[in-house]
Amino acid sequence: MTGILRLAGSEIEIARWGVTTLFADGLSVPAAPNDDATYRARAEALGYGTDTLRMCVEHEVGHAVLAHVLGLRHSPTLRGVAEGAYWPHWQAEEAAVLGLQRYARLAGVDLVKVAQRLAG
Ligand SMILES: [Zn+2]
Repeated sequence: MTGILRLAGSEIEIARWGVTTLFADGLSVPAAPNDDATYRARAEALGYGTDTLRMCVEHEVGHAVLAHVLGLRHSPTLRGVAEGAYWPHWQAEEAAVLGLQRYARLAGVDLVKVAQRLAG
């Protein structure tokens, strides 16, 4: 599952430990699975079972997929995190990404493969 995707104004580097979203100006957002009960419960609820790494990777990729589909230059939420200034509507984007993840898991869709297809 490791590799680099270019989508929604960013490079998404998928590593063994997690994922980094890197913007053209050098700002980046690293993400790794949390090792706590809340995180594990979310993985279970979204359909990832115990695979918190997969949930983490597909979450960051999900931000880019939705930004791409909506025709945005980048994910406003991830960009806000990179800049240290939260996008005021970040909760709406978070809910959309989490919903996309649950939908994709229930439908048997691999969001990394979706992102690869969209990236061309
Ligand atoms: Zn998020």
